[in-house]
Amino acid sequence: AELMRKKLPQKRPINGVDHIILVASGKGGVGKSTTAGKLIKIYINVYCIVNLATALKCVAPNKDVGLLDADVFGPSIPLMMNLHETPLINNDNLMVPLINYGVKCMSMGNLITDQSAAIWRGLMVMGAIDKLIRGVSWNHTDYLIVDTPPGTGDTHLSLAQNLPISGDEIILGVLIVTTGQKAALGVTRRGITMFKKLKIPILGIVQNMSTMKCSKCSHENFIFGDSVQELAIQEKIDTLFSIPLDPNITNGCDSGQPIVITHPESSQVKIYKSLAEYL
Ligand code: ADP
Repeated sequence: AELMRKKLPQKRPINGVDHIILVASGKGGVGKSTTAGKLIKIYINVYCIVNLATALKCVAPNKDVGLLDADVFGPSIPLMMNLHETPLINNDNLMVPLINYGVKCMSMGNLITDQSAAIWRGLMVMGAIDKLIRGVSWNHTDYLIVDTPPGTGDTHLSLAQNLPISGDEIILGVLIVTTGQKAALGVTRRGITMFKKLKIPILGIVQNMSTMKCSKCSHENFIFGDSVQELAIQEKIDTLFSIPLDPNITNGCDSGQPIVITHPESSQVKIYKSLAEYL
């Protein structure tokens, strides 16, 4: 780890990027990427991320929003943002981000076509992250939302070392995404401890898939339990957003059309927008 630290560029600003928001979750499959598209600042889950980025673009149309998929092992942004091309290289030898719904995106999923990343280790992951951060023409990006992989491993350390985070206003902080079951909360708590150690501000917690409404009787069921609030209190994190389990969100992920675009007036989208406004 010491060797890797020495080889990495340390906390340099990213050309063309004003603010960075990370979106993180301890456990996979809790909806980080789904959320992130909607966030303006640092951390969100994949489904969360996609909706956050697009919501951010809706609440701040004059701002340039970028979405960086730092999950080199399981990139999901190309599917969720419906971007499947390979980026072009400009005259400065930088990759040009792909754009959909007004959001600039860059993902390992657009650079490799096979599963070779699954066997990558340490330095290779760090090299790839550095390329995704600094080998891209982010030109005038007001907010860069970073979708991080699940866990507390190499990628997070690499990001924490590589991004101009602590004590620097460029990084707004990390948004934690989790579901409510104990299996997820334990890992989420470890993630929170890691971010605190790395001195990355925690912007809030998103409890994803919080309730499921019965389509027949409208009864709301806390399918994964409701212990996230307890965790937030214990960890002294004030801000908590709840997003229900909604088939429109699942369909939006699979079809590459975020719910922010397909159902702009829905109550779920109001939550994503308030999250974007809050950030
Ligand atoms: P992570 O990034 O945490 O691994 P994803 O964002 O990829 O998780 O979410 C996993 C899947 O769960 C997505 O493909 C999406 O279809 C679904 N999903 C996420 N959040 C919701 C939600 N609130 N309602 C319905 N489906 C959701």
